[in-house]
Amino acid sequence: MVKITYLGHSAFLLEGSKRVLLDPWIEGNPQSPITLDQCGGADVYIVTHAHGDHGLEDAIKLAKRQGGTIVSIYEIALEASSRGAKDTVGANIGSFFDVNGVKIVLTMATHSSPIGAPTGAIVELDGKRIYHAGDTGVFYDMKLIGKLYKPDLALLPIGGHFVMGPLEAAKAVELLGVKKVIPMHYGTFPVLKGKPNEFVSLLKEKGLEVDVIVLKPGESYEL
Ligand code: ZN
Repeated sequence: MVKITYLGHSAFLLEGSKRVLLDPWIEGNPQSPITLDQCGGADVYIVTHAHGDHGLEDAIKLAKRQGGTIVSIYEIALEASSRGAKDTVGANIGSFFDVNGVKIVLTMATHSSPIGAPTGAIVELDGKRIYHAGDTGVFYDMKLIGKLYKPDLALLPIGGHFVMGPLEAAKAVELLGVKKVIPMHYGTFPVLKGKPNEFVSLLKEKGLEVDVIVLKPGESYEL
């Protein structure tokens, strides 16, 4: 079993035999239910890209204080290392690699990044596969991600403007063929207008049988 806790925006904590923090933007995140001091660190921190709302800063701070390995695209991992994070793994969009007992694949994302390039990530923990799409628009190769990695759960942005809105995210669900989805990256700022209820009705219109799990920051789901 993997417990997934939403920390607001695109930040999630996965807890199983290991702790994994995904895009751990905590300080300055208006949705975060915890402070950095309450966070407790992780075995693995995955940072999908270097925009400020995806937690590179906090991953570096947490790794320095609590240990754990920062995983990101090569250039971002180098940056974390140059800023004092002792343990980093730089990778690229490719195939599974193992970090402290967690299997990870970085995947493509259609977005931008001030350092390196943006990614999503497939995370395999205790036999469960979770796809965190990072910040992205919809792209047809999500079909390939679904076919190759068969995620048990997808974490998809729905806020629009900088990322997919409900329309695109509903298409993403169709392409991925995934049966469980947690929406993210909405409501944090006024411009992120997409709402979970629009997303759910678009999925219904498509006739897709999908379990949409809407978590408030601080709430958890057990997979
Ligand atoms: Zn971004």
